[in-house]
Amino acid sequence: MPLLTLVAMIIGVCCTPVAPIGGRADRPIEWAARSGSAPVSAGSVGSLNSIMRGVNLRQDLVPRGSHGRKVFRSMSPRYITIHSTQNWSADAWKHSQALKNGALRAPKRRGGNRIGYLIWHFTVDDKVALQHMPTNEQGEHADFDGPGNRYSIGIEMCEQRGSNLNTTMDRTARLAAYLMIKNGIPLRNVVPHYHWPRRGASPPHKNCPHFLMTNGRPGSKWRVFLGKVDYYYRQMK
Ligand SMILES: [Zn+2]
Repeated sequence: MPLLTLVAMIIGVCCTPVAPIGGRADRPIEWAARSGSAPVSAGSVGSLNSIMRGVNLRQDLVPRGSHGRKVFRSMSPRYITIHSTQNWSADAWKHSQALKNGALRAPKRRGGNRIGYLIWHFTVDDKVALQHMPTNEQGEHADFDGPGNRYSIGIEMCEQRGSNLNTTMDRTARLAAYLMIKNGIPLRNVVPHYHWPRRGASPPHKNCPHFLMTNGRPGSKWRVFLGKVDYYYRQMK
């Protein structure tokens, strides 16, 4: 097996072989209401900033034009897709390094992976949330050439050994709430990877993020997570 393929299998394998935040590429992260870009009222600034401090959001972008960003494909995000990495040894920084190195390859084929690489927007662990690409660019993380890739912001949750999964999920819920506000995305459009059928894959609906699925599909644990997203969304609004 080619080394790169092996690396792709070891790191970040959740995604189907498979914009900094905001409009323009390579724009700095701006969550503070002072940026003027977040549609929040003055009264919610304190909550917004306090919730975003708990996200600890950093940019570590894959350079535009390389690897997963070698082709620019614009996107108006309508959904947020939540994944988990199914990788027991890599934290967010390691995933980011792999994305920047072009180590996460996938076979490019018609109706399948469109660019030969995996790429998504954010990776979250129990310490930090890292942004890999602008949210106005399509990733390659959900359902090949389907709407999950064409219209959704992809967030991967790390689950490396020894990490605190509850902290990671809480950080992810905060980030999702912020992205809802920033992009006008309703709660019903915050979906698990499971939501997007993958044409030609078996099973078509992936058990992802597996620790939030119940018997392989959304159930009570997913609803609890969505409740947390909704809680932060209402706090920020
Ligand atoms: Zn996934």
